Amino acid sequence: MAKVELENVTKIFDNKVVAVKDVTLTVEDKEFVVLLGPSGCGKTTTLRMIAGLEEITKGTIKIDGKVVNDVEPKDRDIAMVFQNYALYPHMTVYENMAFGLKLRKFPKDEIDRRVKEAAKILGIEELLDRKPRQLSGGQRQRVAVGRAIVRNPKVFLFDEPLSNLDAKLRVQMRSELKKLHHRLEATIVYVTHDQVEAMTMADKIVIMKDGTVQQIGTPYEVYNKPANTFVAGFIGSPAMNFLNAVVVAEKGGIWIKTSGFKVKVIKEHEPVLEPWIDKEVIFGIRPENIFDKLFAIAPQPENTITGIVDVVEPLGSETLLHVTCGEDSLVARVDPRTKAKEGEKIDLVFDMNMIHVFDKETQKAIL
Ligand code: ATP
Repeated sequence: MAKVELENVTKIFDNKVVAVKDVTLTVEDKEFVVLLGPSGCGKTTTLRMIAGLEEITKGTIKIDGKVVNDVEPKDRDIAMVFQNYALYPHMTVYENMAFGLKLRKFPKDEIDRRVKEAAKILGIEELLDRKPRQLSGGQRQRVAVGRAIVRNPKVFLFDEPLSNLDAKLRVQMRSELKKLHHRLEATIVYVTHDQVEAMTMADKIVIMKDGTVQQIGTPYEVYNKPANTFVAGFIGSPAMNFLNAVVVAEKGGIWIKTSGFKVKVIKEHEPVLEPWIDKEVIFGIRPENIFDKLFAIAPQPENTITGIVDVVEPLGSETLLHVTCGEDSLVARVDPRTKAKEGEKIDLVFDMNMIHVFDKETQKAIL
């Protein structure tokens, strides 16, 4: 069992920099939790507090139900893999992996067994006699993970472990780490600012901004039911379109009206939006939920808008259209067979099942 609980954890540096503010979250046993957020949002500091490398200003951290606030890092049964791998350059791969166990005075044959087993799991048995400088970035990354595995810790902490790898290797290591998670049945807390990494690997994503938690949810939840405009804009690429709008009641229905168009809300969404009639809101729709009318299934006048194409970006499997409509611009991710031309008019169809509406004042999700 290895459950990690943070209760109202705050970290203030030098009595003034609030790096982490009142963070409460639970990492269940064997769960893969990703802390995601832009640079400086407090992810690394949170991880370092779990590891015991940073003192907690306020709040409690528990591992398996025991408060560890004052427990030394070495006694927390946690292994951390850093961004720069922190391998010892003068030691071989074998020695790097064995080092932590040696310090802990493990018997030699036990060390040998563990190092060889970890090397096998990671496919680096051939590299055990090499020095770090004789390894590629991906191989170094595996050694760093191997060093954590041999300790058989309760919890693995990863701090942006893939950020030094090239794009192709990152994709490969992503699936390797996921497989490793299943194989080791480990509890993992993983820090990244890369939303794709978070979406593809996490059981649960914790989205942070300015030291605070914005939302905790499965990848599906944070993508489909973002709690506020920050989460909605941070997850998804290209980002969700946001437009200033007013909710209006007309012709027996509820409509979203912007400077450039008016679209009708589906019946199921009416009860939620009724209290917002005549109020200013932020309307959100993802590029993938906007279709070129030529390829839309059953377009209706109530969910079709007309705009002017500013830019056409063909990506092969799809085409991105930057479209101006009234005072607003939108990005649509449409069928690559689109006939859209820059400077010309286009009819776009919204999937009204997939729209989002946010309170303009609090930026919190209404729908
Ligand atoms: P990144 O993705 O850039 O690593 P992060 O989300 O991990 O960012 P942290 O490294 O946790 O963010 O930093 C959070 C805030 O705390 C930042 O404003 C940072 O400048 C500040 N901070 C971090 N460490 C210290 C320190 N030792 N002393 C003072 N301020 C610090």
